[in-house]
Amino acid sequence: MKLYPLFAALTDRTVLVVGGGDVAERKSAALLAAGARVRVGSPALNARLAGWAADGRIAHLPGAFSDEWLDDVWLVIAATDNADVNRRVAAAAHARRIWANVVDDAALSSFHVPAVVDRAPLIVAISSGGAAPMLARWLRERLEILLDHALGPLAMLLQRKRGAIRARHRDLRERRSFYERLFASRIWQSLRSANTAAAERELNRTLSQSQIQTGSVALVGAGPGDPGLLTLRALRLLNEADVILHDRLVDPAILDLARRDAQRIEVGKESGQHHTTQEQIHALLLAHARSGRRVVRLKGGDPFVFGRGGEELEFLRTHDVPYEVVPGITAALACAAYAGVPLTHRDHAQSVRFVTAHCKASLDTLDWRALAAERQTLAIYMGVAQLQTLRDQLITHGRAPDTPFALIENGTRPQQRVITGILANLPEQQRKHAVRSPALLILGEVAGLATKLAWFGENVEELLRAA
Ligand code: SAH
Repeated sequence: MKLYPLFAALTDRTVLVVGGGDVAERKSAALLAAGARVRVGSPALNARLAGWAADGRIAHLPGAFSDEWLDDVWLVIAATDNADVNRRVAAAAHARRIWANVVDDAALSSFHVPAVVDRAPLIVAISSGGAAPMLARWLRERLEILLDHALGPLAMLLQRKRGAIRARHRDLRERRSFYERLFASRIWQSLRSANTAAAERELNRTLSQSQIQTGSVALVGAGPGDPGLLTLRALRLLNEADVILHDRLVDPAILDLARRDAQRIEVGKESGQHHTTQEQIHALLLAHARSGRRVVRLKGGDPFVFGRGGEELEFLRTHDVPYEVVPGITAALACAAYAGVPLTHRDHAQSVRFVTAHCKASLDTLDWRALAAERQTLAIYMGVAQLQTLRDQLITHGRAPDTPFALIENGTRPQQRVITGILANLPEQQRKHAVRSPALLILGEVAGLATKLAWFGENVEELLRAA
């Protein structure tokens, strides 16, 4: 069940906790901290709850659960160890349309209480929708370590200075740029040492800096698909980008990591229309950079490997647009790694060639004699449509028909498939398994190792069994 997250304002609102043990105590404490008026219903209370009842912090309703306990209540938490009572509380709340949580019973609950990382006023809430509470707890512990304790004081400072910041930077883009400079500043150190005055000085200093908005382009390699293969620099740039121009090949899971409000533009290329589209991409890069935006040009794999990255940089240089380049893991390296194919190997291959075979014309320019040499690995990009010609030419020029190949479809993605075989029946194998783009072909003695070393993907077990 998919849940809708929300944060409840409970100040001065009555909340009922049913139960008088340690769980009820923990729930009551959290509710009190949120400013709620807490009513605890139970025949008996543990020592701490009894103390709170005595000094009036909570109201105690003694005896067995009864329907009137829900009068004037906004939320209810059932925290007894009696499943029957919990069920009755949930049913009564449901009848009155009061949100109810039954501790450790997702099915009976109309709201869930998330695991929380508290950097008040900043709060991170985590829920697994009841599917895996331990996973949510684990994630909470990770975030607890990751999230600076200065976040809370920073949020408070920003709240206090909000008016001044808005007055200084009326334009949203300028404001965002201010915040980014602030978050990259020394303000964290001041806040960590509880030096609020120094933190405020740092904020004022950043606020008074005049900013010259110049746009720029970062040519970024997104890798082959698995988001874990992004570089840290790529991730940072994706988080700072105003505009992202991405290839069709870039995995949606990677785009999900980018700043939410960044404009995303797909510039997928239809084969046969490369040229015009490339010019349009140039025009888009220029227009966005000139209007002061930080543009990320995101490409599958590495931008300089069969990615036209060079052409885009030449264009940007000609038009005086500042740029930087972030390498990505190219398909050959990634697919080889995820298929268990070492591209070089002391016994099998001393060199590796990256070759593109996207159309007849590109095949005609290849030096087949050199490509057919033994003891080298070929990593062939964009080749699925040309496997027949590839096979025929390589064998004609002397490559042994029993040279192993590994054809890797959707490399590094969960649905990765690796098809292995020998050169002589490469196109037949591709047809039999209906291998489609994106796929990378690795040809050479090393490809045979896939059936021993494969470790990832949909058909890994089949592959290892076949060996
Ligand atoms: N710049 C990219 C290559 C672009 S050419 C890079 O460095 O990887 C596009 C070709 O790359 C595809 O036709 C395919 O051969 C290969 N490719 C890209 N991603 C792939 C993937 N996840 N699995 C298999 N091949 C991939």
